Amino acid sequence: MLGPVILAASRSDRMRRLISAAPVTKQVVDRFIPGETVDDIVPIIKDLTDKGLELTMDVVGEDITTPGQAAAARDAYLALIDHLEELELGERVEMSVKLSMFGQALEGGHELALANVRPVVEAAAAIGTTVTLDAEDHTTLDSMFAIHEELRKDFPQTGCVIQAYLFRTEADARRLAASGSRVRLVKGAYKEPAEVAYQQKHEIDKAYVRILRILMEGEGYPMIGSHDPRLIAIAQELAHKAGRKLDEYEFQMLYGIRGDEHLRLAAEGHRMRVYTAYGTDWYGYFMRRLAEKPANLRFFLRSMVSKG
Ligand SMILES: Cc1cc2nc3c(=O)[nH]c(=O)nc-3n(C[C@H](O)[C@H](O)[C@H](O)COP(=O)(O)OP(=O)(O)OC[C@H]3O[C@@H](n4cnc5c(N)ncnc54)[C@H](O)[C@@H]3O)c2cc1C
Repeated sequence: MLGPVILAASRSDRMRRLISAAPVTKQVVDRFIPGETVDDIVPIIKDLTDKGLELTMDVVGEDITTPGQAAAARDAYLALIDHLEELELGERVEMSVKLSMFGQALEGGHELALANVRPVVEAAAAIGTTVTLDAEDHTTLDSMFAIHEELRKDFPQTGCVIQAYLFRTEADARRLAASGSRVRLVKGAYKEPAEVAYQQKHEIDKAYVRILRILMEGEGYPMIGSHDPRLIAIAQELAHKAGRKLDEYEFQMLYGIRGDEHLRLAAEGHRMRVYTAYGTDWYGYFMRRLAEKPANLRFFLRSMVSKG
């Protein structure tokens, strides 16, 4: 029951001010968002890639309100890619972007987001890597898929995310699998109404398996975005049945969640990519991590009380 309440709070400016200013917050935030600047994050990129992990980098931020902020988001990714060029890690480190941070919700937002994300995709390709478009709430997805399709004309490796909790996703998966796309499948992290999305965990898990089967049997490159041990085991089984080799799909998990499992899968020879977020506008990302696991919220509240 707590999840939806926290997700509602993740859209509240008042809660944002309250939580961002709490003295203990930074400590708890660091578990999921291990840096604020490129200089903070480069040592972490080196450390994780040295351990055999691959990364997808997220400069945190979303729902910006001016074109200037959208341009700043683009520039933050370009600065990151400049640093990555020196590290020469190629496709071992890719980028994840939220189109709402590139201006998608502003007037003329579809074109604006496309104009802002394109240079990032070009810069990523120039250093031998790629970009994946994150999935946000369901009202943004038609625009996201259209931008994905447009970018793929020049950069076919551009990936996108689909969310198992949405009724529409099986059809999206079929289309993307047939077109040979890179696709990350996740359960879904936003508060969605019952008209468009499954609400029960067991329904979402069953949908995840159905969609995963479509991706594994298709022409594309499936990226399994989940920490759920059952789904990870099922993914291995489905990949095997579909005759996929270890480099024909990959696992992805979030930085700060089940770190031992990242290393275990990498040691087994799987491609294991860690979604690593950094930056200062961490509120929305952080609140979704609290909503996913009530124990995180309890830990957060306990540390506030003990500091208080
Ligand atoms: C690489 C990656 C990218 C993602 N991108 C998107 C996106 O673009 N759009 C979107 O809507 N969602 C995205 N998500 C979030 C996703 O939708 C889920 O909310 C999140 O992954 C939790 O679901 P789960 O599959 O891990 O399963 P769950 O059943 O939620 O969790 C399984 C187990 O994982 C652990 N766990 C899960 N979450 C947490 C947490 N926050 N803190 C501590 N432990 C936890 C727990 O042990 C839990 O029992 C992404 C997730 C990943 C891994």
